[in-house]
Amino acid sequence: MSLPKFACLNGKIVDWSDATIHAFSPVAKYGLGVFEGLRGYWNDQRDDLYLFRVKDHNERLLQSQTAMRFDDSADPEDLRSHLIELLRANNFREPVHIRMMVFLDGPGEMSATGPLGTVITALPRTAAGAEAPGINVQTSSWTRMPDMVMPARIKCNANYHNSRLALIQAKVDGYDAPLILNSRGKISEGPAMCFFLVRDGRLITPHITSDILESITRDTVLKIATERLNVVVEEREIDRSEVYISDEAFFCGTGAEITPIASVDRIPLGDGQVGPLTQRIRKLYSDLVHGISDYRSEWLTSVYK
Ligand code: PMP
Repeated sequence: MSLPKFACLNGKIVDWSDATIHAFSPVAKYGLGVFEGLRGYWNDQRDDLYLFRVKDHNERLLQSQTAMRFDDSADPEDLRSHLIELLRANNFREPVHIRMMVFLDGPGEMSATGPLGTVITALPRTAAGAEAPGINVQTSSWTRMPDMVMPARIKCNANYHNSRLALIQAKVDGYDAPLILNSRGKISEGPAMCFFLVRDGRLITPHITSDILESITRDTVLKIATERLNVVVEEREIDRSEVYISDEAFFCGTGAEITPIASVDRIPLGDGQVGPLTQRIRKLYSDLVHGISDYRSEWLTSVYK
């Protein structure tokens, strides 16, 4: 992996190799960090890099800090300007994946609530191809942690042990990704991606009380469906067997973008090809994030203009 020249640690641009955190910090010992994954999309025509929904990512980062009882919140406006400074310092002229983390620093123990540190990193990452085929998914034997155990709706570092175990199991068993049920046996989400299915032209997704992350891409897809496609959407519980008989299904997320699902538990969905509604949503999403359409251009932040 080729690494960028700079990272941003506690608001300062530093050499990549100097972006380090002490081994005794609560984040190292207990996973006491919260983070956001964002993307920047390069637009050749406009010679600019566009960040997608930064304000919403920053707001969720604040919510994560509140839910994890961190002392005081890292200022979202500072984080945004440090992010832009970092991207300019690295002079990225290509698509990037960004990670912003607020973590518990210092020598504290498990009940520490401060002091806070921040780190921002960005690495080149290409967008998924518009023609990528669907993936093969396994219903996981791992259960998504319920809100009574860990706050699934926010992005806390430690939450990812759950997704990781399900993902590794799926890969070892010969699948591309897991579909994880919640403790009530209903569909929750994939590892770092939310889930949609299509039945009779309706777009259906688990409700936010299904132990899912309150995903920004999920919200974007719901808005595209209602505002651009006039499609009926349902946010509700989904059974495993309803997925088997769906016409189409896809995962979505900042990293996953729109990832079509070809089969679940080796049962092909529809004809096993990327479904027509999934394809339309994938195209509209790609045009939106690249700044190709004017639809909701307020969601884009220019890095170089
Ligand atoms: N679920 C989890 C657990 C995630 O980590 C992510 C990625 N952030 C998603 C869903 C998708 O969320 P978003 O659309 O905000 O990236």
